[in-house]
Amino acid sequence: MTVVWSDRTVSRLTCPACRESGEVGNRERGFEPRGMLADTDSPVYRCINCGCGIAIRRRPLVRRPRVDQIDPDVWGRMEYQWGRENPLPATEVPPTPSPEELVRQLRSTTVDTNHLIHLVAEAAEVSESQVRRILAPPAS
Ligand SMILES: [Zn+2]
Repeated sequence: MTVVWSDRTVSRLTCPACRESGEVGNRERGFEPRGMLADTDSPVYRCINCGCGIAIRRRPLVRRPRVDQIDPDVWGRMEYQWGRENPLPATEVPPTPSPEELVRQLRSTTVDTNHLIHLVAEAAEVSESQVRRILAPPAS
């Protein structure tokens, strides 16, 4: 298991799950930094090859830090959370946003509800009646 530190950050490591080894921060092949484990100073990385989560735990008095694969269930939740807090750059956003999202984004740009409905329906490629239901959900 390889971990190379430079400037107190990890620059190179080996995935404990798939054994892929690579540069941290290289999007083609390697590992993406994913911040820190909650309440710790353990950096977290995502293996681009197999998608698993990796936590690097610094150990006092030991030069080589421990590399742990994050439990897949826990990692799934962390990925979800990460995706919400770190939306993809515009180029990677799916071409058709959800109508709910568009309503949120466009609501403040117009006071004309019909205009809003028209904009959202067109952008999200849904029917105008579908947008109306989002704006005014049927009373339950
Ligand atoms: Zn991997």
